[in-house]
Amino acid sequence: MGYQTILVERHGPVELVTMNRPEVRNAQNTALITELDEAMRAADDDPAVNVIVLAGAGKDFSAGHDLKAYVGEAPSDEWHEKRKTPEGKFEHERKMYFEKCLVIRDLTKPTIAMVQGHCVAAGLMLAAMCDLIVASDDAVFQNPVLRMTGAGVEVLAEPFGIGFRKAKEFLWTGDEIDAQEAWRLGLVNRVVPTGKLEEETMALAERIAKIPPSTAQNVKRSINHAQDLGGFRSALEYHFMVHQFQHNTKTALDALAARQAKSSMKEVFKDRDEQFKK
Ligand code: ZN
Repeated sequence: MGYQTILVERHGPVELVTMNRPEVRNAQNTALITELDEAMRAADDDPAVNVIVLAGAGKDFSAGHDLKAYVGEAPSDEWHEKRKTPEGKFEHERKMYFEKCLVIRDLTKPTIAMVQGHCVAAGLMLAAMCDLIVASDDAVFQNPVLRMTGAGVEVLAEPFGIGFRKAKEFLWTGDEIDAQEAWRLGLVNRVVPTGKLEEETMALAERIAKIPPSTAQNVKRSINHAQDLGGFRSALEYHFMVHQFQHNTKTALDALAARQAKSSMKEVFKDRDEQFKK
């Protein structure tokens, strides 16, 4: 369908949507987020699709948002100028991150994230929007955004994904958790051998695809409603506003200016991680 940053393949009743920027660990830029949104909605609307699998090409699921447009080493995109004001940043993150994530979470059909390698920050935010997560045994989950002064990501699924106390530790340390730990915490449904990730995930998707679609969808609706009654959606809304406030603090604005003076993201990440070494 003429996508540049994703691949879409139909396997019987299962739609496999794959982020396809492996050269940058599937960092999510504006084009990828827009195409992913389009493909996920199209699959949800297509009566021939019963289950949607979200994957990342190459060694990693996703390294998070592609921040290159917002530091020195642009090619910048249409949001680059807008993000220079608090209201522009709010609009960008609301439309492109928050709302598009919740579209995935609210799709009527069952969704499965198929996760290998690095699943970092907005990569984890995206995976967490899916109903199920299958991880390969080499998967690692991390949200190091606090090290850069940010209040997590825009959609903070961690309190519900790994529990409140663990969420604080995970976010404050910025340390990775491996696939087994993610399974133990209930963040992922299954851990499978790395070489079998696609086979096992597709087999699970095909089994779920055999449940009559209206039944599977109604059960999803009911469980999501229970989660919302438990405060999930309201907590996400609150966090989004906290996240925006944090972006506009002196602490964060000074750090942003320092990042923009750097020549590459590599330098930014080196700076970020060195002081937090164990
Ligand atoms: Zn943000």
